[in-house]
Amino acid sequence: MSDTCERVIEALRQRGARLTIQRRLVIEALCDEPDHQSVQAIQERLRAKGTHLTEPTVYRIVQWLKALGLVSQTDLGQSGIVYQLIGDRRHHHLVCLACGRVIDLDDGIMDALRESVRRDYDFEPRIDHMAIFGLCRDCRERSAGE
Ligand SMILES: [Zn+2]
Ligand SMILES: [Zn+2]
Repeated sequence: MSDTCERVIEALRQRGARLTIQRRLVIEALCDEPDHQSVQAIQERLRAKGTHLTEPTVYRIVQWLKALGLVSQTDLGQSGIVYQLIGDRRHHHLVCLACGRVIDLDDGIMDALRESVRRDYDFEPRIDHMAIFGLCRDCRERSAGE
């Protein structure tokens, strides 16, 4: 088990959450993949291990983990909605609306935003895993040339 996985299991124990077999399986499937994955991908991963959970079941469990602040949910546009355990190293994405390209974005860039949201809005933001939509350079150049 990875550190992130152990941390998640421990956090759940501390909250007295009931760790059913289904919940455990979904957490393990999230742990096995360091990158984000869709509900369907989690289902596939479980199926490959010989377990069948329905899509609504997997969905319900990832939503439960999200509500507990352990999983991030991000709409990556064309790539769909993805889930990921919130690890120590957060990251975000720039998603091109025209070609669907996804560029990784360092979390450090969010610090200034978090700070002003706290200061100016008295709001504690949870910026776990964000997608910022826009146009990549190639697509901008392409449309400028048209
Ligand atoms: Zn990501
Ligand atoms: Zn593009």
